[in-house]
Formats: sequence, C-alpha cells, structure tokens
Amino acid sequence: VASLGWVSSMVQEAEASQKRINEFLKIEPEIQNMNPDKSVIEGTISFENVSYTYEDTNIKALQNISFTVHKGETLAILGKTGSGKSTIVSLISRLYDVTEGRITIDGNEISKVNLYDLRNSIGIVPQDAFLFSDTIKNNIKFGKENATDEEVEAAAKNAEVHNNIIGFNKQYDTILGERGITLSGGQKQRVSIARAIIKNPKILLFDDCLSAVDTETEEAILNNLQKICKDKTTIIVSHRVSSAKNADKIIILDEGKIIEQGSHNQLINQGGYYAALYLKQLSEKEMQ
Ligand code: ADP
Ligand code: MG
Repeated sequence: VASLGWVSSMVQEAEASQKRINEFLKIEPEIQNMNPDKSVIEGTISFENVSYTYEDTNIKALQNISFTVHKGETLAILGKTGSGKSTIVSLISRLYDVTEGRITIDGNEISKVNLYDLRNSIGIVPQDAFLFSDTIKNNIKFGKENATDEEVEAAAKNAEVHNNIIGFNKQYDTILGERGITLSGGQKQRVSIARAIIKNPKILLFDDCLSAVDTETEEAILNNLQKICKDKTTIIVSHRVSSAKNADKIIILDEGKIIEQGSHNQLINQGGYYAALYLKQLSEKEMQ
C-alpha cells in the first residue's frame, strides 16, 4: 500500500511536469521566418532611422539610429551601460523586430530574409557568455558540430585561450560547470569567442566580450581577429577605446541615440566624448 501511494504521487508529479513542458512547447515564437526560400547573405548591414522600445518595460532603448556597415568592414559601438549597444546586436540577430524604421541586410529588409540563413550567417559572442556543463571541446564545437580537432584548436588559438586549455590536466576534454572546473570570466569570454569564430560566419558580433580580458590579451585577440575578419562584417561592442580604434567606423551611443560617429582620427579631432574617453583610458593605461 505504501509503495502504491508512492507510485501514485510520482505519477501526479510527472503529470504536472508534463503539463508545464507542454505549455512551453506550445508557445509560438513572435519572430517568424517569412521567407521559405534560401537567402544568400553577403553581410552589408544598414540601419535606417531605427527605433526600438521594449514592450514589457516601455523603455525606448534606441531612437532614430542610422548607420551602414559594408561587407567586410568593422564597426565599433561604444557607450555607457544602458545606452542601447546590446539592443543593436539583438536586432541584427533578429531576436526582436524594430518598432520604427528599418534594418536591411544586403539591401533586403531583415524580416524578409530567411531567418535560418540569417542566424546561420551570424557568429555572436553575447555579453554574458553561456557555456554548457560539457567538455571545452564540445563547448567550442557548439559553433560547428562537425569541426575537426585541428579547427577547434585553431579557433582557441585565435581566441588566445589555447594556452590556458592545455594547462588543464584533461586539456580540451576538461569538463566545465557544475560537474567540472569553473573558468574565470575572461577564460569564459575567450571560449565563447572561439565558439563564434569556428563557425566562420559572414557576420561576427562581439558584445562587450573582452571586458574581463586584460589589455595585452585584448590586443592579441584583436590582432588575430583582424586577420580572420578580413572578409567578414564585424561589429565590436566595447567600453574600451582600445577595442575600437582600428575599426573602419565608430559609433558612440548615449541613451539610445548616436552622439558621435566617424573614424578614430576623425573622432579624436572632433574633441568630443570619444576623444575624452581616449585620453582618460590612455592615462589609466600609463598608470598601470
Ligand atoms: P547596453 O548594452 O548599452 O548596456 P542595452 O541595449 O542592454 O544597453 O539596454 C538599453 C536599454 O534597454 C536599457 O535601459 C535597458 O534597461 C533596456 N533593456 C535592455 N534589455 C531589455 C529587455 N530584455 N527588456 C526590457 N528592457 C531592456
Ligand atoms: Mg550590453
């Protein structure tokens, strides 16, 4: 009788869980693929008077944003926390659709580009790197499931994390997370970078992913990226001038608006926010 009671309570628990899972599976994603045909993506991204308001909070995260990054160019986005940098990255990956204005990819409205081709063409390193409780190798291979060991290693080298990995007993087979070791913030960011670059995508989006990396390693990674990203459209979000200075174009965001844009030299000559930030970070570096 006791075990009958036990089994019946287990069945009830399972029933409740299944109900919750079913509810989750039934949710229709708001973002739908509107194009059944294949889209070939070259990588020119254009924002035309884009505004975006988060529905749940009514926060106007972006206001009248316009810029173009051509195929193969690098754009840097700088600005304080909350200025809308990550929102731009989310809109390019089409996690949300714009509230006003339009975004085009190679001249085609983003909502009309095949969603799967769009997402497959993008390698993204999110602001909060997410790693699985799995081996380092599998975490990197998440970007390209059929990658060879050589490809995994090359990506890790370019992300300047290979030397850390080979320092672990089990090297690339080291398990991360709950069942394994905990990486430092900077190591996590670099594994996440390796995951994005192994995919060899047309568009690379780096969302403040060098924040926990020291300036020397940052410079080494940026150097490697310059080689890898030659034919790719690259967007680097950062709060450091050092990540931005070699970009073809730099945008400064403040409260959802573009307050300055141009090349490093142009912005230095303008003597505005960017120039002030440059001097401030230069003197900080000298003090180190
Ligand atoms: P940044 O990356 O420059 O720090 P974000 O794009 O993350 O800026 O945020 C811009 C504004 O939008 C902020 O005011 C932030 O609080 C708000 N915001 C960001 N993400 C969300 C979200 N998922 N839901 C509601 N509001 C958000
Ligand atoms: Mg952000």
